[in-house]
Amino acid sequence: MSRKPLFLVVDDEPVTRLMLCRFLERQGYETETAENGQQALNRFEAQQPDIILMDAKMPVLDGFEACSELKKRPDARHVPVLMITGLNDDESVDRAYEAGAADFITKPIHWAILRNRVQYLLRAIEADRQLHLSSQVFENTTEGIVITDAKACIQSVNPAFSVITGYQPEEIVGQNMRILKSGHHDEKFYHNLWKGIKENGQWKGEIWNRRKNGEIYPEWATINSIKAPDNTVSNYVAVFSDLTTVKESEQNILYLAGHDTLTDLPNRLLFTERLSQAVADAERKEEIVGSLLLDLDRFKVINDTMGHDVGDTVLLEASKRLRECVPINATLSRMGGDEFGMVVPNPPGSRDMAHIAQKVLDVLAAPFIIDGMELFVGGSIGLGLYPLDGEDVKTLIKNTDAAMYHAKELGRNNFQFYRMELNASSLARMLLESSLRNALDRDEFELYYQPQMDLGSGKMIGMEALIRWNHPDQGMVSPGDFIPLAEETGLIVPIGQWALKEACSQNKAWIDQGLPPLRVAVNLSGIQFQQADFVDVVAQVVNETGLDHQYLELELTESIAMGDVEETLSKLQALSDMGMKLAIDDFGTGFSSLSYLKRFPIHTLKIDQSFVRNCTTDPDDAAIIRTFVGLAHSLNLSVIAEGVETEQQLAFLKERECNEIQGYFYGRPLPAEAFVTFVQGQIES
Ligand code: C2E
Ligand code: CA
Ligand code: CA
Repeated sequence: MSRKPLFLVVDDEPVTRLMLCRFLERQGYETETAENGQQALNRFEAQQPDIILMDAKMPVLDGFEACSELKKRPDARHVPVLMITGLNDDESVDRAYEAGAADFITKPIHWAILRNRVQYLLRAIEADRQLHLSSQVFENTTEGIVITDAKACIQSVNPAFSVITGYQPEEIVGQNMRILKSGHHDEKFYHNLWKGIKENGQWKGEIWNRRKNGEIYPEWATINSIKAPDNTVSNYVAVFSDLTTVKESEQNILYLAGHDTLTDLPNRLLFTERLSQAVADAERKEEIVGSLLLDLDRFKVINDTMGHDVGDTVLLEASKRLRECVPINATLSRMGGDEFGMVVPNPPGSRDMAHIAQKVLDVLAAPFIIDGMELFVGGSIGLGLYPLDGEDVKTLIKNTDAAMYHAKELGRNNFQFYRMELNASSLARMLLESSLRNALDRDEFELYYQPQMDLGSGKMIGMEALIRWNHPDQGMVSPGDFIPLAEETGLIVPIGQWALKEACSQNKAWIDQGLPPLRVAVNLSGIQFQQADFVDVVAQVVNETGLDHQYLELELTESIAMGDVEETLSKLQALSDMGMKLAIDDFGTGFSSLSYLKRFPIHTLKIDQSFVRNCTTDPDDAAIIRTFVGLAHSLNLSVIAEGVETEQQLAFLKERECNEIQGYFYGRPLPAEAFVTFVQGQIES
């Protein structure tokens, strides 16, 4: 109580009033007086006393009636009335309590008893006041409060708890605290929490809970244990505040700090952070990281001559185009001004960085149409690779930047690696790739045919179609130089289709011309075979040419056995059912499990030329060939040896009962016309 307690002394006897007031004032209390019950009621409002000492028997309105009157009034109900009565009989005592008196004392007044009763009442008032205050706090605070028993079973919650969690008291009281668990924390977290409460009586921290609607949210919680007099825990009280909005604004601030407001791209700060992250990851996983810095070539002129609004529009448009060039996982950012950056974690190789850079140059090459004007921007790009060009972020950025300046010096609108040697190799490859993309349209491919001979009859029984590329500048490019590139870029699919179609229609034409029918073997890449529509495409292409299926052989490599076995099997079966021959090319160099051979419907094993080359000099190779032939024959497969260059090799293979051979000794791959001449020569001999 902050002020001195105020007593209202109600007695019709002036002497008693005076004595009571003097006694109370000596105890350090303040007093007011009234002469009867009615006056007491009137005075009450004006004085707002803390305790009323009320004589029972008074004129006008007696103490019992005045007391019951007071107890009906909301503002007076809680003020204790101590009844003073000269009537020391049971009936009066009962009447006093019935009227709502807190206690009573008798006249003549026993002062020691009065002092004790008064002190007791004052303590009760104070306790009541505290309780009232606590409950006000409990009801009105914006922090959620939950009180549980010793087993964490919820006993009471406040309105703020309901607002935050969505649970009304009647839904949640009686439930275990577990109901609020979000699943966000592991066992260890809760273990530590309970350990903290046990050891210190308190735990404070951030905890994720779940609202009634399922949403999980962060809160800042303080959990206290409350002990009973015997020192055992009787309750837990948790007070918490919802951190959702705090987190959101925190995130918002973080976002703003890391992003450029014009383009909404990450800024230099975030770029550096992402690069550091990527470098740290790469270090652990022994991968590489690509960094790219781009400077727009003509931005400064545009900005200076046409104004900042146009400048901003150019930057916005540029950022929109750049977004199209960003691989997944990569971060595009605006470094400031007209400079952009990209972090590419774990690119497959330097070539891929070159690709990205080329794509960036391509998108920037198209004119920017702004306010009806055509503006040409372009860019200069520097490329760096971790760890080659810098083992730490700072060095890496510095070197990437140097590469960018080099690109500018070289006349802009190009990209440069920090490492010169990468520039040369990636350029050469990119040139090759772009010309390969055009080769089909420009009709630059051609098939050569290499004859195959049956060792039993000594007659020609077929040929292998081998692709050649008549490169406009480089002349004839051998497949060894461009097939791998075609496979990497996926161009092998259309190129392989072309080869199949060309081989079939050529063979059909030769048969129609009256040449003895021969089987044509066509090479198919594993990439083609993996295509879901592979069988349909082959069937359609072949059918369009009108070639009888028995005159077609497909050469597949052992790599097809690496995929899904059932799928491989059904594809092979479908092709075989159509009457085409199937051969395993380069046999012995790839997938070494032979178990699939038994299951796959293939007809021929083609022994790789690496075994044939030394079969007459190296006993190991000789033994291998013998084993292959034995294996093939036991499975009812035919064997063809390729790369036969000498008479000795031919003799060896013939003796080992190899069925067919192919190689320079019998005939080199020839263009179609020369091949016809070759065939005619064979017929005549
Ligand atoms: P491959 O299927 O093993 O073809 C045999 C290669 O050995 C051919 O090389 C051929 O010219 C060469 N050769 C033939 N006889 C001899 C010989 O007696 N001695 C030596 N040293 N070499 C001989 P080429 O034409 O350069 O083809 C290389 C590879 O390119 C082929 O190997 C094949 O894997 C691939 N290829 C060729 N054309 C195509 C095609 O149309 N599609 C696909 N996917 N790959 C093709
Ligand atoms: Ca082949
Ligand atoms: Ca081969």
